[in-house]
Amino acid sequence: MPRSTLLIAGSIAIDQIATPNDNRKNIIGGSATYAMVAASHFADVSIVGIVGSDFPAAGHQLYRTYAKNLEDLYIANGKTFSWGGRYEKNWNDRVTLFTDLGVFAGFTPHLSARNVGVQTALLANIHPVLQKSVIEQSKAEVVILDTMNLWIEITRHELDEVLTMTDYLLINENESELLTGEKDIKAAAEKLIDYGIRQIIIKQGSNGAHYFNSNEHISVGVFPVERVVDPTGAGDVFAGAFAGTIASSGSCTDGLVYASALASVCVEGFGVEKLSNVNADDLQQRIEYLKGTLNL
Ligand code: AMP
Repeated sequence: MPRSTLLIAGSIAIDQIATPNDNRKNIIGGSATYAMVAASHFADVSIVGIVGSDFPAAGHQLYRTYAKNLEDLYIANGKTFSWGGRYEKNWNDRVTLFTDLGVFAGFTPHLSARNVGVQTALLANIHPVLQKSVIEQSKAEVVILDTMNLWIEITRHELDEVLTMTDYLLINENESELLTGEKDIKAAAEKLIDYGIRQIIIKQGSNGAHYFNSNEHISVGVFPVERVVDPTGAGDVFAGAFAGTIASSGSCTDGLVYASALASVCVEGFGVEKLSNVNADDLQQRIEYLKGTLNL
């Protein structure tokens, strides 16, 4: 059977990351990068995004390796999106040091005919105006959306517009409280479902993730990672694996398991270093473990 295609629009970044143990510069990151590597396990990936003239050869190589279609990957004069983050000693709290949109500022893609026709689209974390522009051009029947606290805080109106076009929303616990005012995730999910988004996935970091629709609640745990090296990108990987699974089989339960498995691999290295070297037996072992944590 031919593989399904997943359209991914999101940030493509050069990151600077400080963890309690290490500091790294010039890591190839961004929501689209992490999501692409994860989704490539399940679907052929088409990318919508932009990089600057400073984007390194290794970054271009990564995109050639994991994406099937780069027609809508723009290369512009200027600086690639860059982001810096520092994790506190508890590893849970992250401080954003800087966000420099670079060539993403004012970027409006014109989707190629091939990408207009893709059936499933993941709008990975990026400015909601850009997410909206991609959704409006695309004929996707399934729209999966990820976002973050920054956009909820500074572009709420634009985000609300995008939410009316969303079939699956992925957010973490803090973001669900920020969006709905509800601390309890079930109450938050109910509010979002009332708002018209039929399927909500709320991630609780090391406590797992929950899927809600109007009559189902499914949860999955986490794989116990021996040593966390860098949590950056775990949310994007989760979104990419979930969306890739939805594109290929439509199964939310499988999506939760595969998303949690790949997110556990992501945090074991900086950037996509572990994710791009994961071996099939290791991944399968994580998947089997996580199937045992499902609560249907
Ligand atoms: P996560 O750890 O899942 O929140 O994702 C971290 C990645 O998101 C990093 O590689 C950043 O480059 C990227 N990122 C951080 N802030 C933003 C933002 N405001 N919009 C889009 N991408 C971002």
